[in-house]
Amino acid sequence: MSANRSIGWGLIGASTIARQHMVAAIRAQAGCQVVAVCSSSPERAQAFAAEHSIDHAYSSVAGLLADPAVDAVYISTTNELHHAQVLLAAAAGKHVLCEKPLALNVEDALAMARACQRAGVQMATNHHLRNAATHRKIKEMLQAGAIGRPLFARVFHAVYLPPSLQGWRIDKPQAGGGVILDITVHDVDTLRFTLDAEPLEVAGMAQSAAMAKAGLEDGVMAVVRFDNGLLAQLHDAFTVKNAGTGIEYHGELGSIVGRNVMTQEAVGDIVLRNAQGEQLIAVEHENLYVRSVRMFCQALDGQGAPAATAQDGVRSLAAALAVAQACRSGQTQAIAAVSV
Ligand code: NDP
Repeated sequence: MSANRSIGWGLIGASTIARQHMVAAIRAQAGCQVVAVCSSSPERAQAFAAEHSIDHAYSSVAGLLADPAVDAVYISTTNELHHAQVLLAAAAGKHVLCEKPLALNVEDALAMARACQRAGVQMATNHHLRNAATHRKIKEMLQAGAIGRPLFARVFHAVYLPPSLQGWRIDKPQAGGGVILDITVHDVDTLRFTLDAEPLEVAGMAQSAAMAKAGLEDGVMAVVRFDNGLLAQLHDAFTVKNAGTGIEYHGELGSIVGRNVMTQEAVGDIVLRNAQGEQLIAVEHENLYVRSVRMFCQALDGQGAPAATAQDGVRSLAAALAVAQACRSGQTQAIAAVSV
């Protein structure tokens, strides 16, 4: 960001992710301040503002957007609200960093991206895993031909949803709950990023085994075919405590194995296996959310694109929705190639 630029951020949503990661990530950028927060509950807005020393607390999105100190908004409300809130932010001329999934359907997500484009404001999606040093290193290795032509990928993203998050994710279909919109959307986005390829079709089966209610799924296994011919296997869940996370790429000349890399933390290891044996690859870890906000701010300064653009958010959502549809129908589902 240029030395004199100052960006006032407004938080739309007094959420866990804002509290645990994003307030600090915004404050880690030179010239960025968190100037306002809004919540549907005045008490929650006030409490969040007090807890984080934020000057202005609003109980409406309109109130926050009317604040001239707000240049950019970070939207981390429940998923059904993102669409209307992004449209309002674009109409108010505010830049938008929006949480995933962007919306509950592709049409709404496209409308959000196009509204920001028309308003001339930046819009990005907070797919944090693209910012992980591990996934960025894997992308470099794949591009350099470390495993030759990649044929298969396997994503291990079955985790245990902490009790504090066992709310709308497991019992509110209308809020976009369920493991597919929560986790599968990240898997697909990470694969799109590392492979520089787009998903074409998907088959899958979902499970509602231990936690989810109201027709929502708390586990899923899916197979995705990408336009470079690669097949990716995804395993996502809210319900298992000890599986560990990881990602693997298997190619004609070798395999890349990432362990403990499907996470919010700047951790994890990468190993390259080939005819020469096994090599631990050095990675310089960096906070994923700090990098996400930095890339966004640089994009505001005309220096490149955000880590995950609005278009990335739309395409990764389209693929996740196709997984959900494939699970419901029992049929292989084509993934629409959507462009903003
Ligand atoms: P939370 O459940 O913590 O917050 C979501 C909303 O719930 C808040 O905006 C808030 O509404 C409301 N809320 C918060 N606390 C309470 C309470 N005590 N009682 C009633 N309502 C409450 O969600 P998350 O932070 O886990 O997720 C928010 C968004 O961020 C989602 O879109 C999710 O998919 C995404 N996310 C992304 C991650 C990433 O790494 N990219 C990681 C985690 C989540 P209000 O704002 O009106 O106060």
